[in-house]
Amino acid sequence: MAESVERLQQRVEELERELALERSRRALGGGDGGGGRVRIEKMSPEVVDSNPYRELLTYGVNQLLLFDYDKVELANMNRLFFQPHQAGLSKVQAAEYTLRNINPDVLFEVHNYNITTVENFQHFMDRISNGGLEEGKPVDLVLSCVDNFEARMAINTACNELGQTWMESGVSENAVSGHIQLIIPGESACFACAPPLVVAANIDEKTLKREGVCAASLPTTMGVVAGILVQNVLKFLLNFGTVSFYLGYNAMQDFFPTMSMKPNPQCDDRNCRKQQEEYKKKVAALPKPEVVQEEEEIIHEDNEWGIELVSEVSEEELKNSSGPVPDLPEGITVAYTIPEKQEDSVAEVTVEDSGESLEDLMAKMKNM
Ligand SMILES: [Zn+2]
Repeated sequence: MAESVERLQQRVEELERELALERSRRALGGGDGGGGRVRIEKMSPEVVDSNPYRELLTYGVNQLLLFDYDKVELANMNRLFFQPHQAGLSKVQAAEYTLRNINPDVLFEVHNYNITTVENFQHFMDRISNGGLEEGKPVDLVLSCVDNFEARMAINTACNELGQTWMESGVSENAVSGHIQLIIPGESACFACAPPLVVAANIDEKTLKREGVCAASLPTTMGVVAGILVQNVLKFLLNFGTVSFYLGYNAMQDFFPTMSMKPNPQCDDRNCRKQQEEYKKKVAALPKPEVVQEEEEIIHEDNEWGIELVSEVSEEELKNSSGPVPDLPEGITVAYTIPEKQEDSVAEVTVEDSGESLEDLMAKMKNM
């Protein structure tokens, strides 16, 4: 009896999913998601010539690979582009329908799974290495827009192993600040290099969740962070302007700190250390004047704003944590400190020195 009830419930869930899919198709005017438009195989020469961003076409941005395991819920309607009729669909599927409707010229490959499981992680790695516009070639860029550290660490591990450049983004739990970060393995600090972020790799995610903290998000903060992420992507792919290694956003003060971090030679990720060695060799092989230029690009000594890393821990947790606090420039606070069990593997801090004492920083943090 219990079994048949379970089976019935499963069937009801299946039917609900099918219904949501069908509703989505109808809302978009057909199963092709095209809404009446068909994919344009080739742009007319006139269009291409007048389009200042035509280079984008050669950079593979006309193909998107999406990875996510969540389903669209009504609670998601306040952000991104999900619509009520898509409730029950996987997020990647719903995103594909909506985006294809906006631009049928883009090719999509969607994966509705959790990248942190062993099997899925292998597949995720395979698609990064082979899922470029030309099958068998790596993708141009990986973008991370996830809401947990486990997923970020999975992306970090994959990109370090593959030497894949990626951009990370995030919005704080209180939804009033966010950041983007460009990670070029071996050249800039990876997600495991920086002490404030490395902690999360070794602690239970659940301990980060606090009771009474509203999980809702401000669509405006997300919109701003998504905007600066995509702006950085354009600059990176089209090679114009300054591509930020780190750009923070504090909505309360309209503060946009930027900085760059060198990789940590003692990083826990061995592939990060390997990439650092390879990068050093690459730089050493360059003609002398260019070496100097490279270094200047990475280190911004005149960083007057410093950095404010997103704080997702309470004051209590900060006080109670016993790890080392990096010597940070003015305006910078740490998101995490390293817990006691890691005391023996203190990571070397690679951010710029402001001359501020540890006491000053601690006092500042307590006043946050
Ligand atoms: Zn690293």
